[in-house]
Amino acid sequence: MGIASINPATGETIRTFSALTDVEIENKLQCAVEAFRINRARSFAERAKRLSRAADILERDAAKHGRTMTLEMGKPVKAAIAEARKCALACRYYVENGARQLADEHIKTDADESYVRFEPLGPILAVMPWNFPFWQVFRFAAPALMAGNVGLLKHASNVPQSALAIEAIFREAGFDHDEFQTLLITSDQVARVLNDERVRAATLTGSEPAGASVASNAGKHIKKTVLELGGSDPFIVMPSADIKDAASTAVKARIVNNGQSCIAAKRFIVHEKVADQFETQFVAEMKALKIGDPLDESTDIGPLATPQIVNDIEKQVDASIKAGARLLTGGKRAGRKGNFYEPTVLCDIPPNAPVNMEETFGPVASIFRVRDFDEAVKVANSTTFGLGASVWTRDQDEEKRFIDAIEAGQVFVNAMVASDPRLPFGGVKHSGFGRELSEYGIREFVNIKTVYVKRVGPPASAAGHITE
Ligand code: NAP
Repeated sequence: MGIASINPATGETIRTFSALTDVEIENKLQCAVEAFRINRARSFAERAKRLSRAADILERDAAKHGRTMTLEMGKPVKAAIAEARKCALACRYYVENGARQLADEHIKTDADESYVRFEPLGPILAVMPWNFPFWQVFRFAAPALMAGNVGLLKHASNVPQSALAIEAIFREAGFDHDEFQTLLITSDQVARVLNDERVRAATLTGSEPAGASVASNAGKHIKKTVLELGGSDPFIVMPSADIKDAASTAVKARIVNNGQSCIAAKRFIVHEKVADQFETQFVAEMKALKIGDPLDESTDIGPLATPQIVNDIEKQVDASIKAGARLLTGGKRAGRKGNFYEPTVLCDIPPNAPVNMEETFGPVASIFRVRDFDEAVKVANSTTFGLGASVWTRDQDEEKRFIDAIEAGQVFVNAMVASDPRLPFGGVKHSGFGRELSEYGIREFVNIKTVYVKRVGPPASAAGHITE
């Protein structure tokens, strides 16, 4: 597949793009070096003024950008507009906090003065996925630009119009010396950019194979990476929970972004005492979801982003049923044009079923019944991923044990896992490393420079001169 916007609801090709040539890439890298010289010389206040304007533009044009996202990758338009607004929030968060987070940090030692200074690194390559076409990019770009770096975006090949729209937002906001450039390149051109000495670090949000490829290449060239990869988040429900609330939130947590979110809850681990009640309500609410045109504001579930994703989901579900899983609802493509798959619930999942072993990137939920809390934690941790996790309980002892025992980058109690500019976001195990958002995010792409100063008196001759 080349670089193209293809409407996943209809299969219609909206626009195609040619990938940059080597000469065009070289030109953009040269511009990035000059852009870095300019952005690093700016004060925090000057950068903040531009980021603040970017936030204004995002809010002003949220409807337009929401429509672009929906047309390219199929998320319900209401969620797409909310995504554009959330990007504004991230910009404003760093407008308000970035300068403080990167101010010199004084540390008492035996020096006359010692402190830590945070300096930008240079051009940073961001390889990004299509699932949150704006949000993923802004949560990299807002802190990176605020810190004085410059951004080079290689976006997923199916969202080129979103990629170009983001570049245009930063230009209009006053980052108009190529501080943020979109590179329309294919994934096999990534190494050419990453290996270039002028590119100082990289971040990738996406699948494990893509992350492993970028991180190993970056390692060869001694460059730092941040990886935000997949997840198979557990959602544990214990008997003391508000089961009604848990089941309704479980539906939202599974179908967010048509089920294509790294932090969507994917495995529902329910205590056997409340499993029937949870399952009945959960299945009923999954069945009641409205599938349809993502541009229609009443739609709950739109199409999956590409035909390949529907094929993958179909294979995972079919193979899991073959391995012994029981289908409670869905389990097939919706009978209409476009990449639609029915909201699906499986239970009695054998350990070797793909829905247990792999990430399911679509509206497919797996229910696991457990005898007690310890078994719930064991099932929750029995995955190679470690992104997010939630538990539903009123028992404070369970709450504490959950926080201690779960292997994940973020754990939520009586709430669905979500990102927030104020909180760090990232994973452990195969979900990646490094953090985005919050003060941890802005400190990923900086040189943490130690400064140690001993002030000595003037040389003897000079001292003599002064006393004369
Ligand atoms: P993907 O296929 O890995 O693509 C992500 C990006 O990597 C795209 O720009 C893609 O370019 C590029 N890419 C793919 N293979 C590459 C390679 N070998 N070398 C360099 N670049 C490569 O993932 P996706 O299907 O777009 O996104 C879904 C995945 O992202 C899921 O696993 C999801 O959980 C994960 N995700 C994680 C987070 C998080 O924060 N942890 C957030 C969102 C999504 P092309 O499009 O040109 O192939």
